[in-house]
Amino acid sequence: MISPDHDTTASQVENLPPIRGFLPSTLIDWPGRIAAEVFLPYCNFRCGYCHSPALLQGDTHEEIPFAQVRQYLESKRNWIDGVVICGGEPTLHDELPCLCRRFRDLGYAVKLDTNGSRPEMLQGLIDSGLIDGVAMDVKTVLDHRMEELARAEIDLEAIDRSITLLGESDIEVEFRSTCCPAFVDQEVVDWIARRIGREATYCLQRFEPQHCAEEVFRAMQPYSAPEMEHLLEVARRHCPKARLRTG
Ligand code: SF4
Repeated sequence: MISPDHDTTASQVENLPPIRGFLPSTLIDWPGRIAAEVFLPYCNFRCGYCHSPALLQGDTHEEIPFAQVRQYLESKRNWIDGVVICGGEPTLHDELPCLCRRFRDLGYAVKLDTNGSRPEMLQGLIDSGLIDGVAMDVKTVLDHRMEELARAEIDLEAIDRSITLLGESDIEVEFRSTCCPAFVDQEVVDWIARRIGREATYCLQRFEPQHCAEEVFRAMQPYSAPEMEHLLEVARRHCPKARLRTG
C-alpha cells in the first residue's frame, strides 16, 4: 500500500488504489477503442520530462471516488469500450488487481500503461486474466542512460523481464518510446527495436516540451517531422509494425 498515512479514503476502505484523475473518453490512448482513462498517483521514476509531476506526489489531486467512475461507466456502456489505467506508475499499487477486476465486472476491457518496473505485478495480472492490453514505455537503452533519464535507482533487469514476458504473452501489447532528443536517437531506436523484436508493436511518440516538469526540457527542441520519419524508418528495420503516434 503506497498511500501516505493521512490518506484514509473510501478507496482504502474498498481496497482500491486512489484514483486521482479521470478522462471521460480518449480515442488515442487505446488505438481502435473509445476508452475512459483513470490516473493513479505515485511513480518510482523522476523523469525530468514528466507531464504529470503533480501525480508523482500523490496527494496534490483530489481523490475521485470509485463510485463516481462506476456511475459514469455504467451510463456509457454503448459508447465506451475500454478503460485505460495509467499514472504515475499504476503497478506500484498492490490493490491494482482489485481495480482491474472492478472494471472487468462492469463489462469493460482493461489496458494498463506502465514503465515496466514491476514484472511480477504484470505477470500476475496477465495470469489472472485481468487485463486485455498493456502499453509499456521503453524509454531508452537499458543501461546507465535509463538511470540518468529516470533519476532513480532502477532494476534494469526487471524492466528487461517485463519486455520478455509481455512479448511472450497473448494480450495486446504496445511498446512505446517518447523521442526526447536527450535520450532517444537513431542508435537508441535501433537498440529498442531489436530488443522488442520483429513481432512487436512499437509506437514512437514525439517529445512535447510544453508541459514538461523541468525547464531544461521545456526549452528543448523536439525532433522535426522528417526526423521522426527517419526514426520510424530505423525502427521498421527490426519492427515492421512500428508507427508514429498521432494526436
Ligand atoms: S515514468 Fe512516467 S509518470 Fe513516472 S516520472 Fe517518468 S514520465 Fe512521469
